[in-house]
Amino acid sequence: MAGHTSTNPAAAQDLIRKGEELESEHAQSRQQQATANEILHAISRSRADVTGILETIARSTAKLIDVRDVEILQCEGDNLKSVARDGAAPQWPLGTSRPIGRDWIAGRAVIDRVVVEVADLQAEQKEFPRGAAFAREFGHRSTLAAPLLQGDVAIGAILIRRMVVRPFSERQIELLQAFADQAVIAINTARLFEEVQARNRDLTALGEVGRAVSSTLDLKAVLKTIVARAVKLSGTDLGLIFRYHAQDRTLRLEETWGLEDTLVERIRGMHIPAEATSSGEVIKRREPMQLADVDMKPGSPLRDIAVATGLRAVLILPLFGSKGALGTLVLQRNRPGEFSKAVVNLTQSFADQSGIALENARLFEEVQARTRELSETLRYQTAANELLSVISRSKFDLQPVLDTLARMAAELCEADIALIRRREGEVYPVVATFGLTQEQIDHLNSYNPGPDRASLFGRTILEGRTIHVADVLADAEFNNATRFLGVRAGIGVPLLREGSVVGILMLIRTTPRPFSERQIELSTTFADQAGIAIQNVRLFEEVQARTHELARTVSELKALSSVGQAVGSSLEVKVVLQRILEHACTMADAGGGAIYVFNQARAWFELQAGHNMNEELIEAVRQRPIHLGESVVGGCAVRREAVQIADLTQATPHPLYATHIKAGVRSLLAVPLILQGEVIGALAVRRTHVGTFAPETVALLQSFANQSAIALQNARLYRKIEEKSRELELASRHKSQFVAAMSHELRTPLAAILGYVELMEEGFYGSLPEKCTGALTRIHANGNHLLGLINTVLDIAKIESGQFSLSLSEYAFKTVVESVRAATESLAQNKKLALKTEVADGLPMGMGDEQRLTQVLLNLVGNAIKFTDAGEVCVSAKAINGHFAVSVTDTGPGIPEEHRSRIFEQFHQVDNANTKRKGGTGLGLAIAKQIIELHGGRIWVESTLGRGSTFQMELPVRAQEKSTQ
Ligand code: ADP
Repeated sequence: MAGHTSTNPAAAQDLIRKGEELESEHAQSRQQQATANEILHAISRSRADVTGILETIARSTAKLIDVRDVEILQCEGDNLKSVARDGAAPQWPLGTSRPIGRDWIAGRAVIDRVVVEVADLQAEQKEFPRGAAFAREFGHRSTLAAPLLQGDVAIGAILIRRMVVRPFSERQIELLQAFADQAVIAINTARLFEEVQARNRDLTALGEVGRAVSSTLDLKAVLKTIVARAVKLSGTDLGLIFRYHAQDRTLRLEETWGLEDTLVERIRGMHIPAEATSSGEVIKRREPMQLADVDMKPGSPLRDIAVATGLRAVLILPLFGSKGALGTLVLQRNRPGEFSKAVVNLTQSFADQSGIALENARLFEEVQARTRELSETLRYQTAANELLSVISRSKFDLQPVLDTLARMAAELCEADIALIRRREGEVYPVVATFGLTQEQIDHLNSYNPGPDRASLFGRTILEGRTIHVADVLADAEFNNATRFLGVRAGIGVPLLREGSVVGILMLIRTTPRPFSERQIELSTTFADQAGIAIQNVRLFEEVQARTHELARTVSELKALSSVGQAVGSSLEVKVVLQRILEHACTMADAGGGAIYVFNQARAWFELQAGHNMNEELIEAVRQRPIHLGESVVGGCAVRREAVQIADLTQATPHPLYATHIKAGVRSLLAVPLILQGEVIGALAVRRTHVGTFAPETVALLQSFANQSAIALQNARLYRKIEEKSRELELASRHKSQFVAAMSHELRTPLAAILGYVELMEEGFYGSLPEKCTGALTRIHANGNHLLGLINTVLDIAKIESGQFSLSLSEYAFKTVVESVRAATESLAQNKKLALKTEVADGLPMGMGDEQRLTQVLLNLVGNAIKFTDAGEVCVSAKAINGHFAVSVTDTGPGIPEEHRSRIFEQFHQVDNANTKRKGGTGLGLAIAKQIIELHGGRIWVESTLGRGSTFQMELPVRAQEKSTQ
């Protein structure tokens, strides 16, 4: 080989040149690789620092393409602004702006969106007047500009200049384009990153940006360019970019170059399991792989395509993103053979760019998803706010809340129909709808499906949880009833409160489009809100009802107690009934009423009290009394319970009703007045509006009726008592008069008898035999006793008939005591009792009925002697504070406590053998009490059983007669 070389210097020369070329190509490749890596590194290091990245790109460009300076310009309105540079060109410092125009290289590249190349700008005065002027001023010659293309839009340009005339090679142009693409990616990445940052900073502002991003990023175009360049630079025939989908571990075609459209279509629809392919292996191993001559794995889904495209060699490169392998770049050649290291390296850098583009796309999608999510959240938030404001606005009015709920649930969940049914016992009437006609609502209300699996409603109720049906036609259990609204997809959510179903929310689509997870979740939130609203309103209503009930009970109690008071305090039955009636009318919210009393003898009802009755009405009931069984009044008496008419105009006609209707009355209620099982009357109230009286009103009226019955009863009893006492009084007076007369009549003959006895005893009729005088003595004693009894009875009769009176005169109490002593001395002696009298000296003269006072003291001393068997009886008298204090003390049996006040009543005697043995009438103390009280004094007894008794009197020294009546 060496000899051959030496013998052929030209060939050797050629070989050396080729070797040198190869060498330089090699070096170039290495350098390209290095710079590409540098750029990628810069991008991955700092997505946000776009300037840094652009500077790296500018530097790399300068290094790879031999130029004096590189300038990267970015569009800013109508200008191109210098944003990065490398090399000497002090005339345009960073930040300088030049207007976009076709008169200079970069301007034209931007406008025409093509690479613009000029061999000698200084000579191009015609084509690029502005550029040429600059060139002559600053000395540059060969100039090249590539637009920074983002899809179809140029966002800037990269410009390179040489100070000599040396045109750029095709490869250099391509390189510049690659750098331009990288610049676009860098700019986009930075922008995306910034946008992501911005979104994170201010979530609510996200909606707008998402749209902006979508308009500035075109992944497809970027990938297309990359794959096209890769194919071209690697000298292959076609390229494919596959994206790896981690969730199902498949590869899906992202972009191609050089492949027939029909094939593209075929591959695009495929979800290729990554494991079965070489791409899968590349992703796993994270390094490039090549097959110099294809020997596809059997069963590979790509085999057919490979064969169809005449594939012979393949180079597969991994696409890396920040989170691992994103896919593969597959380059295919129809000619077998190995890919050089340089090619592998170069294409890897394209693969990396694709990776970045994909990453950008992922970022973009993320941003979009986030934006969607956020705008959704914003919408929900707005909806929730609106709902809350509706709820707070109509705190206790459920309807607007439910209406809003139905509408919002439908809107946010993209349902055609929404309806809320609220549970009422066993049925679920429709309470709010969206998207339904009244006819449809009526139809829905006309039948009540049960808990079953045949309808969305039934199934939701049955299972008590959210039910989502993607397509009712695909569900055999659904019956036709469900299809009435044209239901295809639906969500049913039970409205739950404290574990029980209070209603149901249904969202319906008339197309078989399933609801999303988010929407199902959202509908549950709405259902919760509805449940809360319903519960709140129910609670409120309950509280209202309770409060109302309480207020009513309180006023009922008040009314009843005031009626009770009236019944108790007034015996004037008319007044009482009027009072009851007025209260009854107020409490029953009735304009007027009447109380009737049943006349047993005539068997009809008579008006007893009326409230707000006009003359005509009063006249009507007077003229034509209500009979048993007739109208509500007679009716309630027969049925012995309340009878009412909700609408008089609909009632069986009755003359009285006609009068009522004329007076504007529309409804009537009557309750019977029942006393001891007997109907004694009726209480009736009337209203001027149609409607039934509530059960509690009826019950209340019944209690008013009972009060009325009691009042009537009281009145009757009172009347009876009055009659009886009048009768009694009369009888008593007659008796007293009779007794007084009789006593008087008895006294006269008795006095005559005693007179004759005395005459006979004194011997007026001559001396009498011994036997005779003994009999006369007994006649005299018994006669005196009888006279005493007659006097006592006469006194009582006088007291009772109010004829008892005192005859007041001056007296000395000492005289009273002495005359009593004289009269009782012998009695005491007979019983061997000591009789003492202790009268204080100098007692003032008294004013009183001396004879009656003597009678009192005689009675007391007489009793003392009578009941005392041993010991003494002592009478004492003194004057204290204008009173005589008189006491009669004995050593007798004493008087039991319970009798001490009662012995002063007529005929009361201590009920024991002793008293019975001693005899007596039980009238003495009663008369004594009467006499003392007539004097303005008082009498009482103190006693110790077995020790004796002391009767005490307190008697005004100067009495003024008091009336006992
Ligand atoms: P009479 O003595 O005629 O029965 P009174 O009115 O004088 O009627 O007395 C009523 C009753 O009071 C007597 O029956 C007797 O039971 C009781 N009583 C009165 N004085 C005494 C007394 N000094 N000691 C005990 N009991 C007495």
